[in-house]
Amino acid sequence: MMPALPLRRAGDVAPAVASTYDLDRDALAALIEGEPPYRARQVWDGLYRRLRRPVEMTDLPRALRDRLEPTLRPALHELAWRHADGGDTVKWLFALADGRRIETVLMAYPDRVTACVSTQAGCAMACAFCATGQGGFGRHLRIGEIVEQVVVAARAAAPRRLSNVVFMGMGEPLANYERVWGAIERIHADIGISARHLTVSTVGIAPGIRRLATETLPVNLALSLHAANDELRDRLVPVNRRYPLAVLADACAEYVAASGRRLSIEWALIDGTNDTERDMVELAAFARPLGAHVNLIPLNPTPGYPVRGTPRTGVVRARDTLVALGVNATVRVTRGVEIDAACGQLAATA
Ligand code: SAH
Repeated sequence: MMPALPLRRAGDVAPAVASTYDLDRDALAALIEGEPPYRARQVWDGLYRRLRRPVEMTDLPRALRDRLEPTLRPALHELAWRHADGGDTVKWLFALADGRRIETVLMAYPDRVTACVSTQAGCAMACAFCATGQGGFGRHLRIGEIVEQVVVAARAAAPRRLSNVVFMGMGEPLANYERVWGAIERIHADIGISARHLTVSTVGIAPGIRRLATETLPVNLALSLHAANDELRDRLVPVNRRYPLAVLADACAEYVAASGRRLSIEWALIDGTNDTERDMVELAAFARPLGAHVNLIPLNPTPGYPVRGTPRTGVVRARDTLVALGVNATVRVTRGVEIDAACGQLAATA
């Protein structure tokens, strides 16, 4: 545990202010006006390629470093971090400038290093089984608050290179589209992570999926489905009442056709709720026409949803049923359960 900032009292909510990674190149150049033109590029590279704070930019003159350090303010103040899985999973709890809290997770695998970032403080989607949803909505994150999570994770990943970013932390990325897309452009163009290694995960906001289909950067899309009949999905994922399965399937088909990318479907297996043979038949009927890949993951327990995840044998059975029905399906290994860093467990408690 590494407390870095005194906690703000409830009610002491400052407006969100522009931080280092909110600035675009022009704004940064304006900040260091009077310096030779190449300095702006040097600082930009320092921030995005070398992931340095101004004070660490030893290629800059001392006076400029000293001037920039207090001006380029961090967006994230580390309150705590914990690790699990022998150090391969790290979770941070950050305070934002207004005292709101978010979480970020870093996961190291043999073949890749992935950061799972938050896009909102809290979430308005109210999925029954999700800890973030149970806590309600706070606010949208700014570009700088999203990008800085990637920078912190990439620094911690060293000497390995952060290779993937998934927008699967707190919040619904497509409900904060502009800022999430602004962050994606920075992460791609400036930090240098390929679009194919970026994954936007959505609860199923159909207009957002359609909009994603028009973008030129080919990011991956994950759809958190969890039920493939409207009656059950209305209960588990309430936004389904607004964008029911037929509407969702159309939007996904549009995305697949326009992007040429494969869609992945996330399915948290809930004991006795969405893990029966009938559920798998419905899932297969949804996934097959879209050519989607299904990721099965046993539900992680959360305080507001006292139902257990499907036991191992049921998970394997579900996967085998899908495969027999001609669907590409894999079981996802859960990370960080004991530090509440697993899918759906992020709730920003200290
Ligand atoms: N709002 C986005 C991204 C954040 S949630 C979305 O819904 O996709 C990231 C993933 O974790 C989603 O697939 C979500 O359905 C899943 N999830 C939420 N709670 C979970 C839980 N308790 N167990 C397993 N997965 C969960």
